[in-house]
Order: sequence, then C-alpha cells, then structure tokens
Amino acid sequence: MKNSIFRSFRFEIVLYSLLSLVYTLLTEAALFFGVYLVYQILNNDDVNAKMQQSENIGSNLMNNLNSINNLANNNIQNRIMEPKIQPPGKGLIAVIIITAIIIGLVLFTTYFLLLTKKFASYLEDIAEGITKIAAGNFDTRIYIKNEDEFAFIASKLNTMADDIKQLIENDRKSEYTKNELITSVAHDLRTPLTSIIGYLELVSDQNKLNSDTRQRYIEIAYNKSKRLEKLIEDLFAYTKFSFGEVTMDFSEIDMVKFINQLVDEFYPSFQESGLEYDFSTNLHSVHVVADGNLLARAFANLISNAIKYGKDGKSVNIKLGKENGKVIVSVTNYGRLIPEKDLLNIFERFFRVEGSRSSETGGTGLGLAIAKSIIVMHGGTIGVKSDFDGTVFEVVLDEKKEGNDIT
Ligand code: ADP
Repeated sequence: MKNSIFRSFRFEIVLYSLLSLVYTLLTEAALFFGVYLVYQILNNDDVNAKMQQSENIGSNLMNNLNSINNLANNNIQNRIMEPKIQPPGKGLIAVIIITAIIIGLVLFTTYFLLLTKKFASYLEDIAEGITKIAAGNFDTRIYIKNEDEFAFIASKLNTMADDIKQLIENDRKSEYTKNELITSVAHDLRTPLTSIIGYLELVSDQNKLNSDTRQRYIEIAYNKSKRLEKLIEDLFAYTKFSFGEVTMDFSEIDMVKFINQLVDEFYPSFQESGLEYDFSTNLHSVHVVADGNLLARAFANLISNAIKYGKDGKSVNIKLGKENGKVIVSVTNYGRLIPEKDLLNIFERFFRVEGSRSSETGGTGLGLAIAKSIIVMHGGTIGVKSDFDGTVFEVVLDEKKEGNDIT
C-alpha cells in the first residue's frame, strides 16, 4: 500500500492530538484569565471600600490636626493608592496547578473525542460493512472517505465483495450451464437412439419384412448411429476445447497454402451439393502461428456449414486478406439467411436456427461453438453477418511478424 504519511491515519491521529492540545491550552488560558479578571474586580471593590473609610478618617483628622493634615493626608493617600496584594501561598499554587491539570485532561479528552468523532464513525461504518459482507450481503458497499489506510481497507473490502459476488454468480451460471448441457445432450442422444432401437426392432422381426425393406431399415439405423457418433465426437471436442483440456502444437502456417489445401479437400462435397466455389486472395503468402489441426477443424466447420446451409445459393466464396497486422478469412454462402435475432446466439452450443433441427442437414448445433473455441484459443475473433449480400463468417487472426519466433 503506497500512502504518503500526510494521508495516513497516524498523521490524522497526531494532527487531532495537536489540535486538541492547542484547543485545551487556549481554553485553559481563557478560563484562568477570566478567573483572574473576576479576582481583580472583587479585589478592587475591597480597596474602594477601604478608601472610603480612610477618607472619612482623614477628614476628621483634618478638622482636629490641621498641622499634620497635609502629611497625614499624603500618607493615607499613599497607603490607599498602593494597595498591597498578598502573594498566594504554596498550598494555593499547588491547588491551582492540580486544578489546571485536571481541567486540562478533561478538556483534552473532550476535544479529542469531538475531533475524532467522524473518524470513529467511519470505523463503525467499516465494521458494519464487514459484518454485512460476512453475513453474505455482497451488494454492501462501504463509502470511501479520504485517502488514508481505512479508505484503502474499505476499497479493498468493496473489491472483495464484488469478486465474491462474481464468483458466486459464475458458480451458479456454470451449475446452470452444466444442467443445461446434460439436458441438451440427453435430448440429442435420445432422438437418434430411439429411432435406431425402433428400426432394429423392426429388422429383428424377420417374418414381416422383405429383404429390401430390411436393408433400408438397416441403412437408416446405420446413418442414425453415424449421427450419434458425430454428436458424441463433437461433444467431446467441444468440452475439450472449451475447458482448455487440450495441448496446442503451434507452428508457422502459411494461410494461403493452408486455405487452398482445405478448399481442395472439400471438392467432393462441393460437387455433391452442386455448388461452385471460389477462393480469392491478392496475397502470395501470409503467416500465422497456430495449431494446424485445430485451425483446420475450425475452418472445416465453417466451410461444411456453408455447403450445408448454402445449397440454394449456388456458390461459396472464401476470401483471404490482411489488414493492420491481422489476417482475415471470410467464408460466404448465399441462400437462406440467419434471422437477425439468432445472430447473437449462433455461436452458443446446441443452438440451431429454427427449422435446422428438423432439416436434413444432420447438425449437432456444436460446429460453430467448436470453431469459436478454437479461434479464441488462438487469440483471434470470429463474427457473422447475414443479409442479402450473403451469410458471411469472418475469422481474424494475428499475422506472424517477421522475426517473431514460435515459443
Ligand atoms: P449445426 O450445423 O451442427 O446445426 P452449427 O453450430 O454449425 O451447428 O450451426 C448452428 C446453426 O447456425 C445451424 O443450425 C444453422 O441454422 C446456422 N448456420 C450455421 N452456419 C450457417 C451458414 N453458413 N449459413 C446459414 N446458416 C448457418
């Protein structure tokens, strides 16, 4: 904790003590001056009374003793005008000192308590805040006053309450996600499994079926089993990539060659779907540091989706470019658009646009979630837009700088 001495609570305590001392001394001085004034006034009254008495005596003497009148009068006047105040005795001095000390202590304590009242009430606020946080009220916030150590403690307590609240929320979310995952998986596994069991039951009933029908049912059961296998595979991949349980094998990849190769691998699928495809780039080569197998999986998901969902659109365009040290790959297909409301959820696991679930595309709703996890693992981003110019998935990765070795 870096805190200048002038902002520390020790400095405040010293300051309050000094102020209390100054106020005590001033009050005591004022008090004793007041007492002294009263004493003086009372003393003067006494002298005046004596003066009056002496004047009477003087007048009588003037009448009777004219010869010594002037002399006597002078003497009396001198005695009257210079009254002798008796110096206080030792006992009185001791009493005065003890009284001064007691009054001083009382005043000092009173001033100190008054001056540190705000300070003490802030400590009470902090203690109250801690009690509430300890009781589980993580919305509690302690007001930050000044810049001393207590304000520092208060701000740390606020941060701690925030962090705990966040942790609890994350915990709840992950518990909810886990339950949701189990429900979705159970649902998606059950659907093909039910049909597999159904078809196998029909097949096992030898007498009722001719060989062609039996063969067809076996094929359906086989395809459903393949779908089940794909779902389980995707599920494994998704949990592995999403929860970081994968070791990445980085190497330098030339994206021009990489995408070219990938597109070639999809040639049969393009042919089968009757789609044209086009890979365009004005780059001779551009490099990224990545795990080739993982990256291939992410782009394969995007291209296979473009083929699956862009069948009505006649062509798929793949573009590669670079801008400000970033490598940008886009995969565009045409045909059925993704509704705007779904664009935000499209990368969520098991999310499928209305109609896709029942369609013949045989998806699992995990392809884009897997692609996103992989791209994020590489420090990149993935985005989507879907309008009359086509459905475009765009991946942005960091370009490998010259001289940047792979670590
Ligand atoms: P799957 O394809 O297995 O259903 P994905 O996560 O790959 O799962 O895709 C989620 C949903 O997003 C798909 O069901 C589909 O509705 C939509 N989608 C994905 N890619 C495209 C695309 N290229 N064009 C149109 N819709 C798409």
